Amino acid sequence: MYHSVGDCSDDPYRITVTPERLDRQLAWLRRRGLRGVSVAELLAARARGEGQGLAGLTFDDGYADFVTDALPLLRRWNCGATLFVLPGRLGGDNAWDPLGPRKPLLTADGIRHAAAEGVEIGSHGLTHVDLTRADDLTVKNEVTESRALLEELAGVRIDGFCYPYGTVDVRAVEAVREAGYAYACAIDPGPLTGPYALPRVHVGQNDTAWRLYLKHRLHRLRRRTVKGL
Ligand SMILES: [Zn+2]
Repeated sequence: MYHSVGDCSDDPYRITVTPERLDRQLAWLRRRGLRGVSVAELLAARARGEGQGLAGLTFDDGYADFVTDALPLLRRWNCGATLFVLPGRLGGDNAWDPLGPRKPLLTADGIRHAAAEGVEIGSHGLTHVDLTRADDLTVKNEVTESRALLEELAGVRIDGFCYPYGTVDVRAVEAVREAGYAYACAIDPGPLTGPYALPRVHVGQNDTAWRLYLKHRLHRLRRRTVKGL
């Protein structure tokens, strides 16, 4: 789970890795015989009983630096990825993070560019609302409207949803399923873990080779109860 790729000198939420760090992390994947792919590609491979050598790469929020800083590195290492964007904040910024530096978000053209480069586009909701704390109508709108807007914007089917803040409950899972998504990403969904609440590991600027190794091993250990994943 990545967010922003760029200068991380002012990064209170620890959501940024430098391009140099991402480059080294993708090199680490390669050394271990793993290839980064979109979540859709990972799930399709798993459904065929394959995918042992694949690692799903996700980038949340749709920062403008995805196109300028992450995409060239994904190309260099022949990796795919899923980009979870906020169609209610096109060309805006991360106003939901009060402490952090303002980071510009991709415009509609930026998202279309990423899609044209083979990146899977997924929904992160309309505006980055915590679905576990929103009223029923807001939950439905965030989930349903964002999918419709992205399908129109990108001209492709949108299969993936990503819960803002990673927070998820039964109502949010139901809303995502009813809206027609094929899967959804969370962070630590506990008993809700499944295709509509996929666990992910935060990868940050401090994650050097040995830390990635430990996270990889621990993730497999902690998630081994996930049936069929
Ligand atoms: Zn987010």
